[in-house]
Amino acid sequence: MTASDMLLLNRGGASSGGFDQGFGHGFSGFSDIFDEMFGDAFSGNRQGRNSQSGRGADLRYNMEISLTQAFKGNKTNIRVPTSVQCDACNGIGSKNGAAPESCNACNGYGKVRAQQGFFTIERSCPTCQGSGQVIKEACKTCTGQGRVRKEKTLSVTIPPGVEDGTRIRLSGEGEAGLNSAPSGDLYISISVAPHHIFQRDGANIYCKVPLPLTAACLGGHIEVPTVDTGRARVAIPAGTQSGHQFRLKGKGMSILRSKERGDMFVHASVETPINLSKKQKELLKEFEKEGKTVKNSPQSDGFFSKVKDIWEDLKD
Ligand SMILES: [Zn+2]
Ligand SMILES: [Zn+2]
Repeated sequence: MTASDMLLLNRGGASSGGFDQGFGHGFSGFSDIFDEMFGDAFSGNRQGRNSQSGRGADLRYNMEISLTQAFKGNKTNIRVPTSVQCDACNGIGSKNGAAPESCNACNGYGKVRAQQGFFTIERSCPTCQGSGQVIKEACKTCTGQGRVRKEKTLSVTIPPGVEDGTRIRLSGEGEAGLNSAPSGDLYISISVAPHHIFQRDGANIYCKVPLPLTAACLGGHIEVPTVDTGRARVAIPAGTQSGHQFRLKGKGMSILRSKERGDMFVHASVETPINLSKKQKELLKEFEKEGKTVKNSPQSDGFFSKVKDIWEDLKD
């Protein structure tokens, strides 16, 4: 990909399902239609890099997919409004596709010479714009452009494990070229929507799971959802602390061009019970009394003994 490709592609908003495109030479007539259809998603800079060759402009299609679709991969059809070769003239631009004729002004040479004093100046032929050929009668369907506006449906396969920001290039599926010049490419820009439960970091999936106080104290099992829309059972050892991470090997994201999967990390967040009944409060007070003689909370004990040292130090 060239630097100008990047420029062309990086323009414009990243709204889903929108288009950006650069127009080739002499093809601005359709821009109004595009502005109406796509509003803000379609933006500025009509200066195609293909104005010399007549090659069709590259198109960009913004596609938003869910994390689940990124996990499984996705085959979908997209409708791309673009220009295609005119059937009436086979892209030549002449009536019934008649072969262009040699330019009379330059005898097909593409350049004309003019005498200026002692010098002979050679310049591009103004009649045929240097091509050496002229179309006698323009095709009515495409007004001599060789291409017409059309919406085409393309089947796009999103591979499992695709990353946010990935670009998929469909070679030759961009704008048709002018007068049978090659077509541009279509770039599908993938954005993976944020998930309400899972966070993704490359091949790994992170998930914060609230843990009931009793399960954290006594141990047990919890069921967590997985990115493959399944569920996994996680054994919780007695005395699990808030912030502890359980690693579920191979339960993470699919990896591009691989049968392997990343890991899932379940981040335990012990939940402090609220709305306690009178009985529950009594039981907890009872629980606290019972704990006076045993070390139930080594972290707190350690922390507060350190704090005590600081207070002692400050006295001196
Ligand atoms: Zn000419
Ligand atoms: Zn035509």
